[in-house]
Amino acid sequence: MARIVQKYGGTSVGSVERIKHVASRIQRSKAEGHELVVVVSAMGKSTDELVSLATEITNTPSKREMDMLLSTGEQVTISLLTMALQEMGVQAISLTGWQAGMKTETSHGNARITDIKTKRIEAELSQGNVVIVAGFQGVSGSEITTLGRGGSDTTAVALAAALKASRCDIYTDVTGVFTTDPRYVQKARKLHSISYDEMLEMANLGAGVLHPRAVEFAKNYEVPLMVASSMVEEVGTMIEEEVTMEQNLVVRGIAFENDVTKVTVRGLPNRLNTLSKLFTALSENQVNVDIIIQNQYDDEHVNISFSITQSTLKETLAVLQNAQEELQFTDIYFEEELAKVSIVGSGMVSNPGVAAQMFAVLADNEVAIKMVSTSEIKVSVVVEEADMVLAVEMLHNAFQLAEEVEEAEIEAM
Ligand code: ASP
Ligand code: MG
Repeated sequence: MARIVQKYGGTSVGSVERIKHVASRIQRSKAEGHELVVVVSAMGKSTDELVSLATEITNTPSKREMDMLLSTGEQVTISLLTMALQEMGVQAISLTGWQAGMKTETSHGNARITDIKTKRIEAELSQGNVVIVAGFQGVSGSEITTLGRGGSDTTAVALAAALKASRCDIYTDVTGVFTTDPRYVQKARKLHSISYDEMLEMANLGAGVLHPRAVEFAKNYEVPLMVASSMVEEVGTMIEEEVTMEQNLVVRGIAFENDVTKVTVRGLPNRLNTLSKLFTALSENQVNVDIIIQNQYDDEHVNISFSITQSTLKETLAVLQNAQEELQFTDIYFEEELAKVSIVGSGMVSNPGVAAQMFAVLADNEVAIKMVSTSEIKVSVVVEEADMVLAVEMLHNAFQLAEEVEEAEIEAM
């Protein structure tokens, strides 16, 4: 008997039929003798629908009321799923975030989990119940909070850590983690496994399969994570510390995202505090900056470029214009419709020349690189959005990501 946390995403519980299907999967796991805690998302696109209801009333809803509203989505699912289980004769109980002891910070809309009081869940488990927990929500004092969009993954992993579960299985609408997004690249291949660090980079770089904070939790508490489909019976992808399989691959995956804008602030004074003044002004106004490049063009002046998401351009320009006198720049230049393409792999640490190969592949395909940033296990480039898919395909070929490693070879490693 193992203690297992399972999580089912919005698509997997998108209709009454699907909820019944999930219930029968849970019944099966329960019959195998496991102790089960199941975290669910809101049905289908219902969180989006709640958001649009709010925007029909106001463009500036209070964050507290948004949490009050959005937390109802998951509450619908937990009750219906529990009824479906009870209907099948499976003993089950639903718990909201606060009933499950999910304590968070006060910040509405993006609260971090601070502590989980597992007493209630433990008591329900020892009564023989399957415990169905509402994802994405918590409590701060007596206030309902939410963990940020996509946060149900984090609820599940955090619960797995707190309950010392032997694994956390994330069931979703894809069959696992792929080398790149299969909706864009036909040759994308499902990975047998990926390390926490690689998955964290992939998640942060726009691979939507897992919430980045969930991966962070899994890494910090060493929770073995599995991503698999709730609809297709197929082996998923394991996310764990030591990934010994497919060691021959230096690059394990390619992440990409569009809606990137590059902003260049020109003619700034070449002083020690220029960077700090510029980015303090931006951060004080909650502008999130990604890649940063500084160029000196004469003794007195520098240009600083940075990338942001498209949707924050207006705000960014307003912040800069307000601070022009203080920052003493001459003008601002920006380029829209860009995309970020990133190659990720732990093998890069010990293999020089990966970035060089990436640049060569892009140059050979006449893809212009606008910005570059690297970490130990990733290289990101900003390119024109029109080149994005081509760039990903070419890199996927060049780093041989489509090639299946023989099972025998894996066993032998
Ligand atoms: N229902 C929430 C959302 O759509 C949380 C989640 O599904 O993870 O963002
Ligand atoms: Mg999700």
